[in-house]
Amino acid sequence: MKYLIVGGVAGGATIAARLRRLDEQADIILFERGEYVSYANCGLPYYIGDKIQDRKKLFVQTVQGFIDRFRVDIRTKQEVTAIHADSKKVEVRNLQTGETYVESYDKLALSPGAEPLRPHIDGIENQKIFTLRTVPDTDAIKNYMIQNKPETAVVVGGGFIGLEMAENLHRQGVRVTIVEMSDQVMAPLDFSMAQMVHEELVNQDVNLILSDGVEHFQDEGAQVIVHLKSGRVLPVEMVLLSIGVRPETELAIKAGLKIGVTRGIFVNEFMQTSDENIYAVGDACEVVHGVTGKPAMIPLAGPANKQGRIAADNMARGNHSKYAGTIGTSVAKVFDLTVAATGANAKLLKREGMDYIQSFTHSSSHAGYYPGALSMSVKILFSPVDGRLLGTQIVGYEGVDKRIEMAAQVIQRQGTVYDLARLEHAYAPPFSAAKDPMNMAGFVAENILEGKVKTVQWSDLNLADQDTLILDVRTTDEYALGGIPGSINIPLDSLRDHLEKLPQDKHIILTCAVGLRGYTGCRILMQRGFSEVYNLSGGVKTWFAATTDWTSKKSREQVSNVSAEVPASDAEVTTEAIEIDACGLMCPGPVMKLKQSYANLSVGKRLVIQATDPAFSRDVVAWCNLTGAKLVNVDNNHGRIEATIEKVSEQPAACMQSPGNSLTGKTLIVFSDDLDRALASFVLANGAASTGKKVTMFFTFWGLNVIKKPHHPVVKKDFFGRMFGLMLPSHSCHLALSKMNMAGIGSRMMRHIMYRKRIDSLESMMQQAIDNGVEMIACTMSMEVMGIQKDELLDNVQLGGVATYLERADKANMNLFI
Ligand code: FAD
Repeated sequence: MKYLIVGGVAGGATIAARLRRLDEQADIILFERGEYVSYANCGLPYYIGDKIQDRKKLFVQTVQGFIDRFRVDIRTKQEVTAIHADSKKVEVRNLQTGETYVESYDKLALSPGAEPLRPHIDGIENQKIFTLRTVPDTDAIKNYMIQNKPETAVVVGGGFIGLEMAENLHRQGVRVTIVEMSDQVMAPLDFSMAQMVHEELVNQDVNLILSDGVEHFQDEGAQVIVHLKSGRVLPVEMVLLSIGVRPETELAIKAGLKIGVTRGIFVNEFMQTSDENIYAVGDACEVVHGVTGKPAMIPLAGPANKQGRIAADNMARGNHSKYAGTIGTSVAKVFDLTVAATGANAKLLKREGMDYIQSFTHSSSHAGYYPGALSMSVKILFSPVDGRLLGTQIVGYEGVDKRIEMAAQVIQRQGTVYDLARLEHAYAPPFSAAKDPMNMAGFVAENILEGKVKTVQWSDLNLADQDTLILDVRTTDEYALGGIPGSINIPLDSLRDHLEKLPQDKHIILTCAVGLRGYTGCRILMQRGFSEVYNLSGGVKTWFAATTDWTSKKSREQVSNVSAEVPASDAEVTTEAIEIDACGLMCPGPVMKLKQSYANLSVGKRLVIQATDPAFSRDVVAWCNLTGAKLVNVDNNHGRIEATIEKVSEQPAACMQSPGNSLTGKTLIVFSDDLDRALASFVLANGAASTGKKVTMFFTFWGLNVIKKPHHPVVKKDFFGRMFGLMLPSHSCHLALSKMNMAGIGSRMMRHIMYRKRIDSLESMMQQAIDNGVEMIACTMSMEVMGIQKDELLDNVQLGGVATYLERADKANMNLFI
């Protein structure tokens, strides 16, 4: 038999090796357009990030090694340009010599893969814009980085290759911005789970821009300027395009092979194309989705390899080995997180019109009492009819990979949540809990299906609904750290004592940290005659993750600003600290432990507490704000949060009082439109806002020029308004320095120096102020005098007069005139 194979990496190399093992006498020729075969494309991002340092390690097999082992005729740098299915021949071009020739076959296998998308965008043909698929692509990126030492990069596309590249560029000291067209990264995840990835990216100092796309690229010497559809402009030194792949189907189309509805090569369950002598595998093929039963494109290495084995079996022995379809089981490392998914997500099920119930659980990677347990969030989707498990998504630190595989086994076998609940797993404290996180997910789903509890999702909460009561059953200490707006707090242990306070005529939604106490509360109320009782799936943890705007960076800045406020000398004074281990405890465990230990601490002493509940990094900030404890530092090291706290006084500090009674606000009157003064105003405003203070900026007279829109609609003006318009800066980019402006050279120089020193531009600071909730008020009297219309000002600016300003100043303890 004579076998030809097109493509020599994941699928192609597998077919070649398997064919040889099955048929020692066969002629096997493998054509590969590139220089290398059987290399680890999944490892390429890690080589760029120097995690894999030895380039040779990328090659699973060298060409010579493959020839020696399998006696396959490997023809690299040779491209198959046409298939003549009738005569069973292919045309081949030798890319080194330019020569073309014909080769005949008995059976042909196609594994040409998929190529990265490079859409027709102006300026895309730029040497500083890269895609990543092959070893030469990798070498090009690596060489560019060695020669040019880029400090900034944009990664376009938040899929798993984009995120892996973001991490690896970041490892090399590059400041990375991810630009993603959708409102979330990682398409296999649903939004709420992707939000946890957004949080991680932002915490790792990646600039994340969602719901925005590239409009065009502009070459600017050492930089490429990325213009986004929103009007945002990102000057960077390199761009990595990672917006998806397109199956390489040209050969198949030209040969007249059937193409599927998803534009991949159509194959049957034997991986055989519409021509009985031609098989196809890998990224170029359309597969059947194992959950929906519909055609799908799922470009992953695992399926490509398994299909290769099946195709080889069928080519050598006739069709008997079947491929059952792909359920898209995938896992990725995103900085410290592990992110995994299998089966269908909510978006796909909605698209296919399949009914589903979703449920969130949060567990620990192993028994909480054994050191090092880390948190793990699980979302499952299952059929309301028979409980069939349809999909699972997991975000966590350790043990995520094995849990996703447990779920994948159940989904692949068309199993149910009852199977999940009964899955037998290997247990010892360092590895799991007696009830594994996947068992827990199954138990919760069972309860829902059996009507023991009704659940609502974070996205169902209508905070303005007068007919709904949100009842938080966490402890008062936990609740004080923050809850769902409008909720009331009755701790679970005292719920039975307060039943008469609860309305019988309203929907009652119970919530707690992760959903467990909420469930118990629901059971109490349901058995005491309350009928419209619901548990918030995943509790406050899921709600908080899903509803926070992580792109605003506010929460991270709150944490870092707290530590930045500590003077270095002060930090050195007290070196002794009591160490507290709260690892493995879920909320409220760490906060309770902190409270107890803090009570026994003497004034001036410090404690260092370690916890693995991800919410603790926020909780500890809120707790210190509430109690007046001094938060010296918070550090998150691979999911292990370490906070250092100092006791500054025996009494809880003044900030224990309700915010309404305290004068902690800051007001700034921005009178000037000098660039330097505008910068100073926003530095101060952002600094104050990031420590949780209410900040109001009152823009009056020339200060109004700072908050003008770069592009505003045409507005009608009188003569004086037009005169002011002509003479004054039209927006912030045209502001001049108060000193050394030198006809605009000074302000440009200032902006350049700020860019080089990685200081945010005035425009970024203004955006941060908006994100941080800084209130910006434009003085209506000055607007009237200068003929400025509301449409000329930034969207978030409110109009107000002196009374508005005075009312804010009354509640502030600092008032600046700039
Ligand atoms: P490929 O492995 O792409 O091989 C196709 C080969 O065919 C190419 O070398 C091409 O040059 C050659 N070829 C095409 N046309 C011709 C022709 N006419 N003549 C001769 N040769 C031709 N998947 C995962 O599951 N997990 C991961 O972590 C992961 N990470 C990845 C990271 C990167 C950077 C990339 C690029 C991919 C990653 N993937 C990952 C996807 C995975 O690599 C692919 O799913 C898998 O390689 C597909 O195998 P394939 O054989 O279909 O195609």
